[in-house]
Amino acid sequence: MKVFHGTATYQGIAIGKIQYLRRNEQHIRQYTVESARREIRRFRKAKERALEALKFLYDKASLELGEEESKVFKSQISLLEAGSFTRAIEGMILSEKVNAAYAISTTRDELTKTFAKMEDEIIRNRVMDIKDISERLILIIEGISREDYADMEPVIVVANNLSPTEIMEMDQEKLLAFVSREGSPVSHTAIISKTLSIPSLIGIDVDPLWEDRMAIVDGYEGIFYLEPDEALLKKYERRRQEDLKEKEFLQKLRDKEDITLDGTRVKLFANIRSLEDLRSVQESGACGIGLLRSEFQYLGRENYPREIELFRAYKKVAETMGDKPVIIRTLDIGADKKAEYMDLPDEENPAMGNRGIRVCLERKRMFKAQLRAIYRASAYGNLAIMYPMVTSMSEIREVKEIVADVVDGLKKKEIPFKEIQHGIMVETPAAVMIAEDLAKEVDFLSLGTNDLTQYILAMDRKNPSLEGRYDDHHPAVLKMIQMTIDAAHKAGCWAGICGELAGDTSMTQTLLEMGVDVMSVVPPSILPVRKQIRKIILPNNVKSKPIEQ
Ligand code: PEP
Ligand code: MG
Repeated sequence: MKVFHGTATYQGIAIGKIQYLRRNEQHIRQYTVESARREIRRFRKAKERALEALKFLYDKASLELGEEESKVFKSQISLLEAGSFTRAIEGMILSEKVNAAYAISTTRDELTKTFAKMEDEIIRNRVMDIKDISERLILIIEGISREDYADMEPVIVVANNLSPTEIMEMDQEKLLAFVSREGSPVSHTAIISKTLSIPSLIGIDVDPLWEDRMAIVDGYEGIFYLEPDEALLKKYERRRQEDLKEKEFLQKLRDKEDITLDGTRVKLFANIRSLEDLRSVQESGACGIGLLRSEFQYLGRENYPREIELFRAYKKVAETMGDKPVIIRTLDIGADKKAEYMDLPDEENPAMGNRGIRVCLERKRMFKAQLRAIYRASAYGNLAIMYPMVTSMSEIREVKEIVADVVDGLKKKEIPFKEIQHGIMVETPAAVMIAEDLAKEVDFLSLGTNDLTQYILAMDRKNPSLEGRYDDHHPAVLKMIQMTIDAAHKAGCWAGICGELAGDTSMTQTLLEMGVDVMSVVPPSILPVRKQIRKIILPNNVKSKPIEQ
């Protein structure tokens, strides 16, 4: 038996035989063509066939998965229809008189190399799209049919990388799990695996020789067992059955209240990173969105988003959520999230550098556009705003002046908007220590325990060598959480937690005993946390302040 560790993108257990997908691994021969024009015609025909297939998959995904999940197919279609990608391929055929398959693979490699260094998820998804389209075009041109999934047995699908189109071409009933070397937890593939409730692991050093061997996928621990022994198989079969029962049970909690056994009501909200997460928020039965990470509209593009684009996205979220609160965090760019066009200088220690509210206060035009977009969208739902990385009173006062300016402008132009709540993310020790004063300026404080832990412990949250030592249960962290909650309540504010700690069910009782009013977690954690809340009896002295939204 061999054991591999990776990252799980959907939690679940799968046991079964491996099917290894050998695509994306074909060797492309280069040769000179007699007529470049004829080769371009051949390429265009392949493009037409690829487009037909993608349009079919788009319709299938729209019907079976939903609007958001089918967008990936739409973006591949537009990449093929109008993109500089196909122009680059045709240009190469024409200028170098090379065969189409070679021009496609070279263009693909050049583009993916350019983007490879970028950490941004949206760009990584774009790279996956380019790889997937290229593979489809090459197979058509070379006359090779795509893997035939028609009669597949239930299998664990293993590949270097997997694309959403491939998943849609498979019989999803027969998919036990996906395991791949490449990919990211927020890739389209991961999103689809969640939508289909199929366990999946990324970052596993896969090998074509595994074909037909038995394996176990543990999507809770992120472990892949190759050729497990009998005892482990038995153990995991039991866990699989329990897991299925638990998931069935959790589904029954979808429409239940977040209330403890002693009758204390808690607000359980969801954290989202893009509009694509909206569907899972609705399915999870969350009572609102406690953190909309607004970076998704600023990353993976060539220039600042326009106010109208921002507005449309916020309006969509507001309308989708209806009366339920949606807290939009203003742009938290900098540190690990960089947009080339912003031209933020490289920093030696970016986590301690120019990020969050600091960048927004420096680039007021950009900040105002976002605030105006949020205010305009507020007319369509129940929106609130919160500000990341605040460390001083002067920052929040400056923010309030800018907000007042924006509101004034809207009034003058008679643009409708609603009064909205404002909050501060408490994610630095400085903010904790002045929380009482900060709280007087706003309606709520929301603890960002991911950054707060990093800054309290002086441990980079992304440094893998600190794994096991970066500890958000550390007494210093818990003490600061308590201080923040008390400070918020003293000032008449509500207090929330939107860092990962809120989704840690081993901490639910502790956090509620501390008096937290709102917990905001990733959509898959909503039901497990709700289950936990409903089991808890709080001591009499805990006074949770009901949130007024
Ligand atoms: C946090 O720091 O806890 C937080 C919620 O913000 P992010 O993870 O986006 O930095
Ligand atoms: Mg943070």
